[in-house]
Amino acid sequence: MKLTLLDNGSIEGSFRIFYREGEYAGPPRITFPVSCYLIQTDDGKNLLFDTGVWPGGIRAKTDSYRYQTREQTLEAQLALLGLTPGDIDAVLLSHLHYDHAGGLFLFAGKDFYVSRREYALATGDNPPAAYVPADYTVSGNWHLLDGDGEIFPGVEAVMLPGHTPGLMGLLLRLPGRTILLPQDAVYAADNYYPACMLPGLLGDEAAYRASLAKLRSLQQETGAELIFGHDAAQRAGLPLAPARIE
Ligand SMILES: [Zn+2]
Repeated sequence: MKLTLLDNGSIEGSFRIFYREGEYAGPPRITFPVSCYLIQTDDGKNLLFDTGVWPGGIRAKTDSYRYQTREQTLEAQLALLGLTPGDIDAVLLSHLHYDHAGGLFLFAGKDFYVSRREYALATGDNPPAAYVPADYTVSGNWHLLDGDGEIFPGVEAVMLPGHTPGLMGLLLRLPGRTILLPQDAVYAADNYYPACMLPGLLGDEAAYRASLAKLRSLQQETGAELIFGHDAAQRAGLPLAPARIE
């Protein structure tokens, strides 16, 4: 299995997304990277984990702004690896917020994997602000997942509710290395350890804390390394496409 981090640009928004009032002393606006992942399995499948922001601009009902160069579009990032959207076999979605489902339209007709709880919330009446139904009103073969387990060989779903009720992370067993991709179950190291500042945008605090505990025990069990969902400092030290995470 091969893992590649695709740089889908960044978002600038209020610190209140990441932190709570009174627990944070930095600038009022923060900028954070948007990441998608290409997972290439040993049996030749190209899987995409998340699809980033809509390249036409942010259309969510928020006061955040998107920055994406032509080189940071999903098509350009895939092209760095000699691929087109047509080469993707399946799309796995951590959740359906606008910065994760925005590029799904590129993969119409493919197999999509998302948790049933996430799909139900996103497609129900009045989904919360960060959901943009136009992003995920895309025809495809929707596989709705009910719990943890292997989706493809070496690719395991790990349900991590809290940020949203149906958030799904992935545990990837690379040769000689195990990687956990919690996406927005943990935005950044600040939201995880040692201090664990709770994010401002948080659906369910008890579920969030339980998901952190689950991640910690999974790390102990498997020796996995975490790549956080939107951690600018961590991202600066990671290889980006076309380089692989090895
Ligand atoms: Zn996000």
